[in-house]
Amino acid sequence: MATLLDHLRRRIAVQGPLTVADYMADCLGHPEHGYYATRDPIGGDGDFTTAPEISQMFGELVGLWCAETWAAIGAPDPMALVELGPGRGTLMADAIRAAEVMPDFADAVRLHLVETSPVLRRRQAAALAETVATWHDDVTSIPPGPAIVIANEFLDALPIRQFQRSADGWHERRVDIDGDGLRFVLTAVAVPLFPSVLAAAADPGAIVEVCPAAIAIVDALARRLVADGGAVLIIDYGHAAGGVGETLQAVRRHAYADVLEAPGDTDLTAHVDFAAVARAAADVGADIHGSVAQGEFLRSLGIETRAATLAAGATEKQAADIETALKRLTDGRAMGELFKVMALTAPGQPPPPGFS
Ligand code: SAH
Repeated sequence: MATLLDHLRRRIAVQGPLTVADYMADCLGHPEHGYYATRDPIGGDGDFTTAPEISQMFGELVGLWCAETWAAIGAPDPMALVELGPGRGTLMADAIRAAEVMPDFADAVRLHLVETSPVLRRRQAAALAETVATWHDDVTSIPPGPAIVIANEFLDALPIRQFQRSADGWHERRVDIDGDGLRFVLTAVAVPLFPSVLAAAADPGAIVEVCPAAIAIVDALARRLVADGGAVLIIDYGHAAGGVGETLQAVRRHAYADVLEAPGDTDLTAHVDFAAVARAAADVGADIHGSVAQGEFLRSLGIETRAATLAAGATEKQAADIETALKRLTDGRAMGELFKVMALTAPGQPPPPGFS
Protein backbone atom coordinates (compact mmCIF):
# COMPACT_ATOMS: atom_id res chain seq x y z
CA MET A 1 0.00 0.00 0.00
CA ALA A 2 1.30 3.46 -0.92
CA THR A 3 2.21 5.61 2.08
CA LEU A 4 2.55 9.35 2.59
CA LEU A 5 6.34 8.89 2.46
CA ASP A 6 5.99 7.33 -1.04
CA HIS A 7 3.79 10.24 -2.11
CA LEU A 8 6.24 12.84 -0.75
CA ARG A 9 9.22 11.15 -2.41
CA ARG A 10 7.39 11.04 -5.76
CA ARG A 11 6.49 14.71 -5.40
CA ILE A 12 10.09 15.65 -4.63
CA ALA A 13 11.36 13.56 -7.58
CA VAL A 14 9.08 15.52 -9.92
CA GLN A 15 9.26 19.06 -8.57
CA GLY A 16 12.41 19.16 -6.42
CA PRO A 17 12.75 19.63 -2.66
CA LEU A 18 9.51 20.79 -0.97
CA THR A 19 9.13 23.91 1.12
CA VAL A 20 8.53 23.14 4.80
CA ALA A 21 5.01 24.53 4.25
CA ASP A 22 4.28 22.09 1.40
CA TYR A 23 5.70 19.25 3.51
CA MET A 24 3.61 20.24 6.55
CA ALA A 25 0.46 20.70 4.47
CA ASP A 26 0.79 17.18 3.02
CA CYS A 27 1.71 15.61 6.37
CA LEU A 28 -1.29 17.12 8.15
CA GLY A 29 -3.85 17.57 5.40
CA HIS A 30 -3.28 15.02 2.60
CA PRO A 31 -6.83 13.78 1.94
CA GLU A 32 -5.88 10.08 1.96
CA HIS A 33 -2.78 9.76 4.16
CA GLY A 34 -2.67 13.03 6.11
CA TYR A 35 -2.42 13.08 9.89
CA TYR A 36 -5.76 14.79 10.57
CA ALA A 37 -7.56 13.01 7.72
CA THR A 38 -6.84 9.58 9.16
CA ARG A 39 -7.33 9.85 12.93
CA ASP A 40 -8.59 11.63 16.00
CA PRO A 41 -5.22 12.54 17.54
CA ILE A 42 -6.51 14.28 20.68
CA GLY A 43 -6.57 12.94 24.24
CA GLY A 44 -4.83 10.37 26.45
CA ASP A 45 -4.92 7.59 23.82
CA GLY A 46 -3.81 9.96 21.04
CA ASP A 47 -0.78 12.18 20.55
CA PHE A 48 -1.62 15.39 22.41
CA THR A 49 -4.18 16.89 24.81
CA THR A 50 -5.70 20.36 24.51
CA ALA A 51 -7.18 22.75 27.07
CA PRO A 52 -10.87 21.90 26.43
CA GLU A 53 -10.02 18.20 26.92
CA ILE A 54 -8.34 18.95 30.25
CA SER A 55 -11.41 20.52 31.82
CA GLN A 56 -14.95 21.63 30.99
CA MET A 57 -14.07 24.93 32.72
CA PHE A 58 -12.11 26.06 29.66
CA GLY A 59 -14.99 25.81 27.17
CA GLU A 60 -17.47 27.16 29.72
CA LEU A 61 -15.44 30.32 30.27
CA VAL A 62 -14.96 30.78 26.52
CA GLY A 63 -18.75 30.40 26.10
CA LEU A 64 -19.41 33.12 28.67
CA TRP A 65 -16.77 35.27 26.98
CA CYS A 66 -18.68 34.89 23.69
CA ALA A 67 -22.02 35.75 25.27
CA GLU A 68 -20.62 38.85 27.02
CA THR A 69 -18.81 39.98 23.90
CA TRP A 70 -22.01 39.51 21.88
CA ALA A 71 -23.89 41.75 24.35
CA ALA A 72 -21.08 44.34 24.21
CA ILE A 73 -21.28 44.62 20.41
CA GLY A 74 -25.02 45.31 20.51
CA ALA A 75 -26.48 41.77 20.66
CA PRO A 76 -26.73 41.22 16.87
CA ASP A 77 -29.38 38.65 15.92
CA PRO A 78 -28.60 36.53 13.99
CA MET A 79 -24.86 36.23 14.62
CA ALA A 80 -22.43 33.61 13.36
CA LEU A 81 -20.51 31.77 16.08
CA VAL A 82 -17.52 30.27 14.30
CA GLU A 83 -14.94 27.82 15.55
CA LEU A 84 -11.78 27.11 13.57
CA GLY A 85 -10.45 23.56 13.99
CA PRO A 86 -12.93 22.42 16.68
CA GLY A 87 -11.17 19.07 17.36
CA ARG A 88 -13.61 16.82 19.21
CA GLY A 89 -16.19 19.59 19.57
CA THR A 90 -15.67 19.64 23.34
CA LEU A 91 -14.92 23.36 23.66
CA MET A 92 -18.03 24.33 21.67
CA ALA A 93 -20.32 21.88 23.52
CA ASP A 94 -19.13 23.26 26.89
CA ALA A 95 -19.37 26.84 25.61
CA ILE A 96 -22.94 26.47 24.35
CA ARG A 97 -24.07 24.78 27.56
CA ALA A 98 -22.55 27.53 29.71
CA ALA A 99 -23.99 30.31 27.54
CA GLU A 100 -27.52 29.00 28.09
CA VAL A 101 -27.60 31.42 31.05
CA MET A 102 -28.11 34.06 28.31
CA PRO A 103 -31.01 32.57 26.29
CA ASP A 104 -31.09 35.51 23.85
CA PHE A 105 -27.49 34.74 22.92
CA ALA A 106 -28.32 31.07 22.36
CA ASP A 107 -31.25 32.10 20.13
CA ALA A 108 -29.16 34.53 18.08
CA VAL A 109 -26.26 32.19 17.41
CA ARG A 110 -25.78 30.32 14.11
CA LEU A 111 -22.98 27.81 14.54
CA HIS A 112 -20.31 27.43 11.82
CA LEU A 113 -17.42 24.99 12.17
CA VAL A 114 -14.31 25.18 9.96
CA GLU A 115 -12.83 21.69 9.81
CA THR A 116 -11.06 19.72 7.09
CA SER A 117 -10.82 16.32 8.82
CA PRO A 118 -13.77 13.98 8.12
CA VAL A 119 -12.90 11.97 11.23
CA LEU A 120 -13.07 15.04 13.48
CA ARG A 121 -16.19 16.37 11.73
CA ARG A 122 -17.93 13.17 12.86
CA ARG A 123 -16.71 13.67 16.44
CA GLN A 124 -17.93 17.27 16.37
CA ALA A 125 -21.34 16.25 15.04
CA ALA A 126 -21.68 13.74 17.89
CA ALA A 127 -20.57 16.24 20.58
CA LEU A 128 -22.93 18.89 19.20
CA ALA A 129 -25.83 16.58 18.33
CA GLU A 130 -28.38 18.95 19.84
CA THR A 131 -27.17 22.03 17.99
CA VAL A 132 -27.68 22.92 14.33
CA ALA A 133 -24.25 23.48 12.77
CA THR A 134 -22.80 24.07 9.32
CA TRP A 135 -19.36 22.79 8.40
CA HIS A 136 -16.88 24.59 6.14
CA ASP A 137 -13.54 23.69 4.55
CA ASP A 138 -12.23 27.21 5.12
CA VAL A 139 -13.38 30.62 6.36
CA THR A 140 -14.31 31.99 2.93
CA SER A 141 -17.70 30.21 2.78
CA ILE A 142 -19.03 31.52 6.11
CA PRO A 143 -21.93 33.84 5.24
CA PRO A 144 -21.30 37.58 5.77
CA GLY A 145 -22.59 39.40 8.86
CA PRO A 146 -21.46 39.84 12.46
CA ALA A 147 -19.42 36.93 13.81
CA ILE A 148 -17.58 35.78 16.90
CA VAL A 149 -14.73 33.48 15.92
CA ILE A 150 -12.87 31.11 18.28
CA ALA A 151 -9.54 29.50 17.39
CA ASN A 152 -7.96 27.33 20.08
CA GLU A 153 -4.78 25.54 18.97
CA PHE A 154 -5.71 26.10 15.34
CA LEU A 155 -3.14 28.53 13.94
CA ASP A 156 -0.27 26.35 15.24
CA ALA A 157 -1.34 23.60 12.82
CA LEU A 158 -1.03 25.79 9.73
CA PRO A 159 1.98 25.30 7.43
CA ILE A 160 5.05 27.47 8.00
CA ARG A 161 8.01 28.31 5.80
CA GLN A 162 11.51 28.42 7.27
CA PHE A 163 14.47 30.51 6.20
CA GLN A 164 18.04 30.11 7.41
CA ARG A 165 20.78 32.71 7.41
CA SER A 166 24.07 31.94 5.70
CA ALA A 167 27.07 34.16 4.98
CA ASP A 168 25.54 35.28 1.65
CA GLY A 169 21.97 35.91 2.85
CA TRP A 170 18.82 33.92 3.57
CA HIS A 171 18.08 30.50 2.07
CA GLU A 172 14.80 28.62 2.28
CA ARG A 173 14.81 25.34 4.12
CA ARG A 174 13.35 22.51 2.06
CA VAL A 175 12.70 18.80 2.42
CA ASP A 176 14.61 16.46 0.08
CA ILE A 177 14.94 12.71 -0.46
CA ASP A 178 17.67 11.06 1.63
CA GLY A 179 18.25 7.34 0.98
CA ASP A 180 15.00 5.69 2.09
CA GLY A 181 13.91 8.75 4.06
CA LEU A 182 13.94 12.54 4.00
CA ARG A 183 16.33 15.31 5.03
CA PHE A 184 16.43 19.09 5.22
CA VAL A 185 18.40 21.04 2.60
CA LEU A 186 18.83 24.75 1.88
CA THR A 187 18.08 26.39 -1.47
CA ALA A 188 21.32 27.13 -3.33
CA VAL A 189 20.29 30.66 -4.21
CA ALA A 190 19.65 33.25 -1.49
CA VAL A 191 16.08 34.62 -1.34
CA PRO A 192 14.82 38.07 -0.34
CA LEU A 193 13.20 37.89 3.08
CA PHE A 194 10.52 39.87 4.83
CA PRO A 195 10.32 41.36 7.38
CA SER A 196 13.70 42.85 6.63
CA VAL A 197 14.26 43.99 10.23
CA LEU A 198 14.62 40.35 11.21
CA ALA A 199 16.98 39.75 8.37
CA ALA A 200 19.26 42.53 9.51
CA ALA A 201 19.37 41.32 13.11
CA ALA A 202 19.91 37.60 12.68
CA ASP A 203 23.26 35.84 13.08
CA PRO A 204 24.57 33.22 10.63
CA GLY A 205 22.73 29.92 11.15
CA ALA A 206 19.65 31.66 12.53
CA ILE A 207 16.24 30.38 11.41
CA VAL A 208 13.11 32.50 10.96
CA GLU A 209 9.63 31.18 10.33
CA VAL A 210 6.67 32.73 8.56
CA CYS A 211 3.13 31.37 8.37
CA PRO A 212 1.45 32.75 5.23
CA ALA A 213 -1.70 30.66 5.84
CA ALA A 214 -2.22 32.14 9.31
CA ILE A 215 -1.71 35.66 8.00
CA ALA A 216 -4.20 35.05 5.16
CA ILE A 217 -6.87 33.79 7.61
CA VAL A 218 -6.31 36.63 10.09
CA ASP A 219 -6.46 39.13 7.22
CA ALA A 220 -9.80 37.69 6.01
CA LEU A 221 -11.30 37.58 9.52
CA ALA A 222 -10.13 41.08 10.42
CA ARG A 223 -11.60 42.51 7.21
CA ARG A 224 -14.92 40.84 8.10
CA LEU A 225 -14.83 42.31 11.58
CA VAL A 226 -14.20 45.81 10.36
CA ALA A 227 -17.03 45.51 7.78
CA ASP A 228 -19.68 43.57 9.73
CA GLY A 229 -18.69 43.68 13.44
CA GLY A 230 -17.82 40.90 15.84
CA ALA A 231 -14.71 39.57 17.53
CA VAL A 232 -12.00 36.95 17.08
CA LEU A 233 -10.47 35.07 20.04
CA ILE A 234 -7.17 33.34 19.37
CA ILE A 235 -5.68 31.01 21.99
CA ASP A 236 -2.45 29.22 21.19
CA TYR A 237 1.13 28.62 22.20
CA GLY A 238 3.54 31.05 20.77
CA HIS A 239 5.63 34.14 21.22
CA ALA A 240 4.28 37.61 21.87
CA ALA A 241 7.08 39.48 20.13
CA GLY A 242 8.00 37.37 17.10
CA GLY A 243 11.66 36.95 16.32
CA VAL A 244 14.30 34.49 15.37
CA GLY A 245 14.36 30.79 16.21
CA GLU A 246 13.02 27.44 15.10
CA THR A 247 9.76 26.32 16.73
CA LEU A 248 8.57 23.63 14.27
CA GLN A 249 7.94 20.55 16.37
CA ALA A 250 6.74 16.98 16.00
CA VAL A 251 4.75 15.20 18.70
CA ARG A 252 3.71 11.57 18.86
CA ARG A 253 2.13 9.76 21.80
CA HIS A 254 2.64 12.78 24.07
CA ALA A 255 6.42 12.94 23.38
CA TYR A 256 8.59 14.99 21.02
CA ALA A 257 9.53 13.20 17.80
CA ASP A 258 11.58 13.82 14.66
CA VAL A 259 9.89 16.20 12.19
CA LEU A 260 10.92 14.10 9.16
CA GLU A 261 10.29 10.65 10.61
CA ALA A 262 6.93 8.93 10.15
CA PRO A 263 5.33 11.69 8.02
CA GLY A 264 1.54 11.56 8.29
CA ASP A 265 1.72 9.69 11.61
CA THR A 266 3.14 12.56 13.65
CA ASP A 267 1.61 15.87 14.67
CA LEU A 268 3.50 18.88 13.32
CA THR A 269 3.02 22.37 14.75
CA ALA A 270 4.86 25.65 15.09
CA HIS A 271 4.54 28.41 17.65
CA VAL A 272 2.17 31.19 16.67
CA ASP A 273 3.83 34.55 16.01
CA PHE A 274 1.34 36.82 17.80
CA ALA A 275 3.19 39.93 16.64
CA ALA A 276 2.63 38.89 13.01
CA VAL A 277 -1.05 38.14 13.75
CA ALA A 278 -1.45 41.59 15.33
CA ARG A 279 0.26 43.29 12.36
CA ALA A 280 -2.00 41.52 9.86
CA ALA A 281 -5.16 42.53 11.77
CA ALA A 282 -4.01 46.11 12.38
CA ASP A 283 -3.10 46.50 8.70
CA VAL A 284 -6.79 46.23 7.75
CA GLY A 285 -8.05 48.41 10.59
CA ALA A 286 -9.03 45.97 13.37
CA ASP A 287 -8.28 46.67 17.05
CA ILE A 288 -5.92 44.29 18.87
CA HIS A 289 -6.38 43.28 22.53
CA GLY A 290 -3.50 41.42 24.19
CA SER A 291 -1.84 39.11 23.91
CA VAL A 292 -2.19 38.14 27.56
CA ALA A 293 -0.99 34.91 29.15
CA GLN A 294 -3.63 32.15 29.25
CA GLY A 295 -3.36 31.84 33.05
CA GLU A 296 -4.02 35.55 33.50
CA PHE A 297 -6.91 35.45 31.00
CA LEU A 298 -8.65 32.49 32.64
CA ARG A 299 -8.19 33.90 36.15
CA SER A 300 -9.67 37.19 35.06
CA LEU A 301 -12.68 35.31 33.63
CA GLY A 302 -13.18 33.67 37.04
CA ILE A 303 -11.74 30.17 36.63
CA GLU A 304 -10.83 29.96 40.33
CA THR A 305 -14.43 30.63 41.39
CA ARG A 306 -15.71 28.14 38.81
CA ALA A 307 -13.26 25.49 40.09
CA ALA A 308 -14.38 26.09 43.68
CA THR A 309 -18.05 25.77 42.69
CA LEU A 310 -17.42 22.52 40.84
CA ALA A 311 -15.30 21.16 43.70
CA ALA A 312 -17.98 21.97 46.28
CA GLY A 313 -20.35 19.41 44.76
CA ALA A 314 -17.68 16.82 43.98
CA THR A 315 -16.12 13.75 45.59
CA GLU A 316 -12.62 14.06 47.05
CA LYS A 317 -11.10 12.42 43.97
CA GLN A 318 -13.05 14.70 41.60
CA ALA A 319 -12.04 17.76 43.63
CA ALA A 320 -8.38 16.74 43.32
CA ASP A 321 -8.83 16.35 39.53
CA ILE A 322 -10.39 19.82 39.30
CA GLU A 323 -7.44 21.28 41.21
CA THR A 324 -4.99 19.50 38.88
CA ALA A 325 -6.83 20.76 35.79
CA LEU A 326 -6.87 24.31 37.17
CA LYS A 327 -3.10 24.16 37.65
CA ARG A 328 -2.47 22.71 34.17
CA LEU A 329 -4.50 25.46 32.51
CA THR A 330 -3.22 28.42 34.53
CA ASP A 331 0.17 27.65 36.11
CA GLY A 332 3.17 29.33 34.48
CA ARG A 333 5.05 26.01 34.54
CA ALA A 334 2.23 24.29 32.61
CA MET A 335 0.05 26.05 30.00
CA GLY A 336 -0.44 29.34 31.87
CA GLU A 337 2.36 31.37 30.27
CA LEU A 338 3.37 29.61 27.07
CA PHE A 339 -0.23 29.82 25.86
CA LYS A 340 -1.35 33.31 24.94
CA VAL A 341 -4.72 34.86 24.22
CA MET A 342 -5.38 37.65 21.75
CA ALA A 343 -8.69 39.23 20.74
CA LEU A 344 -9.42 41.22 17.58
CA THR A 345 -12.43 43.54 17.42
CA ALA A 346 -13.87 46.20 15.19
CA PRO A 347 -12.28 49.59 15.87
CA GLY A 348 -13.49 51.50 18.91
CA GLN A 349 -14.88 48.52 20.85
CA PRO A 350 -14.10 48.39 24.57
CA PRO A 351 -11.64 45.64 25.52
CA PRO A 352 -13.47 42.28 25.70
CA PRO A 353 -13.58 40.36 29.02
CA GLY A 354 -10.11 39.28 30.12
CA PHE A 355 -8.26 42.11 28.36
CA SER A 356 -8.97 45.19 30.46
N1 SAH B 1 -9.41 23.27 18.86
C1 SAH B 1 -9.37 21.86 19.20
C2 SAH B 1 -8.46 21.03 18.27
C3 SAH B 1 -7.06 21.50 18.04
S1 SAH B 1 -6.20 20.43 16.93
C4 SAH B 1 -8.96 21.70 20.63
O1 SAH B 1 -8.54 22.67 21.24
O2 SAH B 1 -9.07 20.59 21.15
C5 SAH B 1 -6.34 21.31 15.38
C6 SAH B 1 -7.69 21.26 14.75
O3 SAH B 1 -7.65 22.00 13.53
C7 SAH B 1 -8.22 19.89 14.36
O4 SAH B 1 -9.62 19.88 14.50
C8 SAH B 1 -7.80 19.80 12.88
O5 SAH B 1 -8.49 18.82 12.16
C9 SAH B 1 -8.09 21.20 12.43
N2 SAH B 1 -7.34 21.66 11.26
C10 SAH B 1 -6.01 21.58 11.05
N3 SAH B 1 -5.67 22.20 9.90
C11 SAH B 1 -6.82 22.71 9.38
C12 SAH B 1 -7.12 23.48 8.22
N4 SAH B 1 -6.17 23.85 7.37
N5 SAH B 1 -8.39 23.85 8.01
C13 SAH B 1 -9.38 23.49 8.89
N6 SAH B 1 -9.15 22.76 10.01
C14 SAH B 1 -7.88 22.36 10.25
